[in-house]
Amino acid sequence: MATHLTGSFQLMKSLNRSLILNIIRTSGAIPRSEIAKQTGLTPPTVTNIVSELLDEELVVESRAGSSNGGRKPILLTINSDSRYIIGVDVGVKKVRLALTNLNANVIQRKLLPMPHTHALTTERFLDLLLHAIDTFLTENITQKSKIIGIGVAMHGIVDHEEGITIHAPTLKLEHVPVKQVLEQAFNLPVRVENDAKALALGEKWFGAGRDVDHFVCLNVGEGIGGGIILNDHLFHGNNSLAGEIGHTRIDINGPKCSCGNNGCFQTLASGQAVKERAHTYIKEGKKTSLVAQAGENLKYLDGQLIFKCAEEGDEIARQILKETGTFLGFGLLNIIHFLNPSMVVIGGGVSKSGKWILEPAKDVIQSQALTHEAAKTRIVVSELGDDGSLIGACTLVLSELFSHVHSK
Ligand SMILES: [Zn+2]
Repeated sequence: MATHLTGSFQLMKSLNRSLILNIIRTSGAIPRSEIAKQTGLTPPTVTNIVSELLDEELVVESRAGSSNGGRKPILLTINSDSRYIIGVDVGVKKVRLALTNLNANVIQRKLLPMPHTHALTTERFLDLLLHAIDTFLTENITQKSKIIGIGVAMHGIVDHEEGITIHAPTLKLEHVPVKQVLEQAFNLPVRVENDAKALALGEKWFGAGRDVDHFVCLNVGEGIGGGIILNDHLFHGNNSLAGEIGHTRIDINGPKCSCGNNGCFQTLASGQAVKERAHTYIKEGKKTSLVAQAGENLKYLDGQLIFKCAEEGDEIARQILKETGTFLGFGLLNIIHFLNPSMVVIGGGVSKSGKWILEPAKDVIQSQALTHEAAKTRIVVSELGDDGSLIGACTLVLSELFSHVHSK
């Protein structure tokens, strides 16, 4: 069964099929004649491929379209629930799984804690992943035969072609052959990508970047990752390193980073930086409601609490978020000057601090950008929210099914 699925997935990659499928997907509903016009394929070729797609139930016909007086034309739409995808988002503290349809709508989800890094080895990590996916597949046994692939979004630097996590500093793991191990275990195609790049792809297909050719996606959580979309495609650079904006340096005398250098962008503008600043202010004896609200040994001191206190009027909490936002602005300005994107999408926990962080960041851009146009670069919050990297993980598989041009 699974071998058959793998085989059919390979077949789907044929250029014209993908081309036609993608036109049907992006148009929503389209007649055969219009597909021929848009692709330049002959009407008989379109008819043949469409009848294959109808046989496989990937596409369905309807007559809901408008007509010009005569019979309503037959429209083709994607049969979204004909196939499913498993998405896995591997974070530093948790692993999230989702089963989605072809429209990236989440049908089922699951969340598992990640063991402490000191207890994590490559073997233990892969066991955890295998067990999590296996259990999830069993829980969704009725959809199992329709699953066409597994997409994995991972913290760290990922070789997306080989599906290997090259370097995951926070998990303290290196050279993890995720794709090979999962493909062997489940006999399904597996795609692996860095989580911020997966988020960028998710935003391109289903979120804020749908109609934008060039944009950058920043995943601002415990660290900062970046995904770059250039000419509608994810840009990887020479060795999959493109987008590692979190490790560009803002202050050489700044705090130590997980990469070993000092003053990287993520040490100054991430969720971790927000917490560090709060600890510093509290140590200095600044008067703030954070102390009373964070509990014994400040164990509840996190970004969410700081945001709550800022909303309630705590000046120190507001100051912490403002400083973080200013540094975020410096990083955004670097992106704008270096790549000149039309938009930067911000995802991850920090994006939830709304105006307290984003407004000071925007102030930096407006006052320091080189040109008038650059100062107007759109800074928006991820439309996919907490599900961003997870939907991005599923999109890795979808883009294989629908795209006739692969990412570079
Ligand atoms: Zn660094």
